[in-house]
Amino acid sequence: MQHFETKAVHAGAIHDTTAGSIAPPLYLSTTFERDEQGNIAPKGYIYTRLGNPNRQALETKIAALEQGQEAFAFSSGMAAMVALLQTVLETDSHIIIPDDCYHGISHMVKRMLPNWKIDYSEVDMSDVDNIKQSIQPNTKLIVIETPSNPLLKISDIEAIAQLASSKHILTVCDNTWATPVLTTPLTLGCDFVLHSTTKYMGGHSDVLGGCLVARQSNALTIKLRETQNIGGAVPSPFDCWLINRSLATMSLRVKQQCENAIAIAQYLSSHPKIEKVMYPGLETHANYETARKQMKLSGGMLSVLIKGGQQEAMSFAAKLKLFKHATSLGGVESLIEHRLSVEGINAKSPANLLRVSIGIEHVNDLIEDIRQALE
Ligand SMILES: *Cc1c(COP(=O)(O)O)cnc(C)c1O
Repeated sequence: MQHFETKAVHAGAIHDTTAGSIAPPLYLSTTFERDEQGNIAPKGYIYTRLGNPNRQALETKIAALEQGQEAFAFSSGMAAMVALLQTVLETDSHIIIPDDCYHGISHMVKRMLPNWKIDYSEVDMSDVDNIKQSIQPNTKLIVIETPSNPLLKISDIEAIAQLASSKHILTVCDNTWATPVLTTPLTLGCDFVLHSTTKYMGGHSDVLGGCLVARQSNALTIKLRETQNIGGAVPSPFDCWLINRSLATMSLRVKQQCENAIAIAQYLSSHPKIEKVMYPGLETHANYETARKQMKLSGGMLSVLIKGGQQEAMSFAAKLKLFKHATSLGGVESLIEHRLSVEGINAKSPANLLRVSIGIEHVNDLIEDIRQALE
């Protein structure tokens, strides 16, 4: 089998027979010609909502990187999640989500699913026993997110997947933060992987997208393809083209981000103005061993509690020059964000918490920026 870096460049490549171009052509066409009998032409494309060469190239590459059989690209990470929920849940079913979960997903589960009489439990997944206790006869899906957002909690993917499959419950792991560079949840037994490709996969804060990857193609993935095609929350060909291009450099970016993040986490941990650093690469992290077991490196995200309260946190963020104060993550540039003020309903982050997305700038410049802002 090819190595990750090779697949990231070559998997799903479009071979252009018109001009022999090395970069893939962009297929903007919404419709595709049929043969003389009116059958679908040999390439298999009909209409871009149903399938498009650029989307197929992207899906093939992401499936290869996550070691799944099939991938499904969407117009955003949330669109991907909603499509999965629409496919696997039904009236009167129950879903288990992490207590520290991407706020859009918890909003969807808590505020919108009840319209279809779908119930949920919210549990701390850093201990598998908590999940065991919340399983009900109608539990259909367990959502895993590790590292969690924004507390960087780690859950044991393999243990959760084993528990779920013994009870015939499906699992989806939101792998947006770890990326397949660090963790491949499908090889640990999960049924699905979810990505906001807006983040590390896109990597440059200039394209919105989402993706699901299935460990196995089966009756459920036929249904999921139907949800994608009929639901229609699909990405544009150019969005697919951009994400596909960015995937080629993802492992280089993520490795650099991880290297910068551990150095910054260590610097912050020893700073007198810092109350706590949340980063799975620090030995002081509660689930350090689980993180080491399932992550090749510790990731480019960290959260930090500033001594004092919201005012001290805000003034630190304001004094930074290289780190921009903005939401989102996974881009080449470093970002910092006060979570409590963006969480909206159900906001529960500590008032002095700042979430940091480490970019690929030189680590010494980033540390110098933090040093001057904490002074
Ligand atoms: C951003 C994000 C999402 C949602 O993705 P969008 O592309 O913004 O819809 C889901 N999960 C995680 C962990 C994210 O960071």
